[in-house]
Amino acid sequence: MDFFLFIFVYVGFLSFIVYVLLFGQSESNRNGFIGYVHSILTYEIWAFLKKMLVKIFGKSADTFLKKIVVYMCLTWNPFMMLFYVAILIGGFFVFFVWAFPEIIQIPTISSWNYVYIFLIIANVITTFLLCVFTDPGSITKDNVDIYLTHFPPDNLIFFPKFCETCKIQRPARSKHCRFVNKCVARYDHYCGWVANTMGLNNYRYFVLFLIANMIMCSYASYIIFRILYYNVKNSSILDLVFFDKYGNPSPISFSHILRYIIVEYRALFGLLIMVFMMGIVLFAFVAYHLYLIATNTTTNETFRYADLKEEIHMFENFKASQEQKD
Ligand SMILES: [Zn+2]
Repeated sequence: MDFFLFIFVYVGFLSFIVYVLLFGQSESNRNGFIGYVHSILTYEIWAFLKKMLVKIFGKSADTFLKKIVVYMCLTWNPFMMLFYVAILIGGFFVFFVWAFPEIIQIPTISSWNYVYIFLIIANVITTFLLCVFTDPGSITKDNVDIYLTHFPPDNLIFFPKFCETCKIQRPARSKHCRFVNKCVARYDHYCGWVANTMGLNNYRYFVLFLIANMIMCSYASYIIFRILYYNVKNSSILDLVFFDKYGNPSPISFSHILRYIIVEYRALFGLLIMVFMMGIVLFAFVAYHLYLIATNTTTNETFRYADLKEEIHMFENFKASQEQKD
């Protein structure tokens, strides 16, 4: 297969999977093709695998799998956060070994970039630590009354409810988070990347954390691109001339330059692809959360409103069918 076609298909496929996983459950997608692929990826495949494992290893495999799923997906654990830290350290390592020393040697890149790099990294680490260690807004017997006056039930998606675990009347917009085992005020979602729930007290840090990571990925894409661009432009590879089978000379093609970069600057090129893709995903996330802030909604409420809309829709359909019968 042609090299470019391969890259194109690969990036296209990856982008499609990321889109399906992120937005497959959204209101406009959940009943269509994207929703169908989402259910295959997140449910059908795993149900099929489980069935096969039970067939091979018997019923005990089922109990064992359930325990693993409950621990990995429904209980607080640090694995996703450690995965994030590992990616971050790996990225820093590649950047400091292969990109950092280049900056000072390239006359077209200002040494101010060393200051920017320091600020960008400090920003990511600070917002990460704030997300990990800030209390999301835990509701206890002592502070529940304050929350109840600020968040009375709306009787639409938040009805008066008693939390059996925390033994409190649950204020509107709050939710008992099973991961941290607390009721959290203005509950947004549980974030595995920082192993904490995002709520009233730390949601702003979460949005800053997303923005910090987006800036880091955008900056890294920019600076790595400039390093590669300068090095290629000043290498002798551009002087190469190719001859076709009739002996006609032609200058080096873009495809050859790209192959040269992949061979010569393997680590930096790999990092560039990674930060560029992650930058796009983060941009989508930042845009989504800025939209939530602008509409004063939480991630949790978006899903609740979507469910409510679907229920109303189903009710209207039912009413219409009843009226037709009459
Ligand atoms: Zn609770």
